Amino acid sequence: MGKVFKILGARFPRDDAELLAEVCKARGEDLSDFIRRAVQGELPLRNRSDGQILRTLPDYVRIWMLEQETWKQIFGRYRKRGVYDANGNKILLEKDCCCRKTIFHESLHSVSIFSDPCNREKYEMTRLFTEGMTEFMTGLLLFRRYRDCYENWRLRRFPRWCSVSYPRETKTFLAFCGCTSAQSLLDFYFGTQSNDLPVAWRGFVSAIKQDTRKKFRDVFREGERMGLFVAFRNECERQFGKKFRKLRRLLDYSEVF
Ligand SMILES: [Zn+2]
Repeated sequence: MGKVFKILGARFPRDDAELLAEVCKARGEDLSDFIRRAVQGELPLRNRSDGQILRTLPDYVRIWMLEQETWKQIFGRYRKRGVYDANGNKILLEKDCCCRKTIFHESLHSVSIFSDPCNREKYEMTRLFTEGMTEFMTGLLLFRRYRDCYENWRLRRFPRWCSVSYPRETKTFLAFCGCTSAQSLLDFYFGTQSNDLPVAWRGFVSAIKQDTRKKFRDVFREGERMGLFVAFRNECERQFGKKFRKLRRLLDYSEVF
């Protein structure tokens, strides 16, 4: 069941109200969403079992490292070591269980189109797509800037928080970039053309068509049924065939970049 909402009225001086409306319009954000987010700027961290507030992070905090005990109380036995909380705009990390790649991954989440206020929490079907793409981008950053980290990440040499997460999905995006230009994917991920997900997606599909001269189908609707990642991967298989399947077996950025 979705969240239950209660409507509250609030009085603002006319100037402030006009400014608020203007800011929201420029951000493409709903006024209610904007105000809710402002109120939630102080992020309460709750115990998942009894809902009690364990601590409240002040608005100015952007990255916070939590003790392992607290982490468990909030997230249970999740394997994840980092979380980006889009509502509070904060990155949470588990102490002694995260590394450079965790920070990159969560930071990328924070600037991706999927975390944009106008898309957030609207598209459940994009979860795997988002995670795979974010980890793929993380790998690209490591490959370009921290080659030793990159090698350990892809070969899974160190504890699991240093190693590639979502490997199947990550390899899919790498293989995609081997079959067409990576630029269309980057533009889509960062919402360069539009921050509205369906609009940006259509731009992404037409860029693929232009780059590859193939009849790449728009699978957004199919994605609503089977998840956007699966629909996208199937279409890549159909269009790029053997080359795509071969590249997908490897996690080797030097084959593509
Ligand atoms: Zn993630």
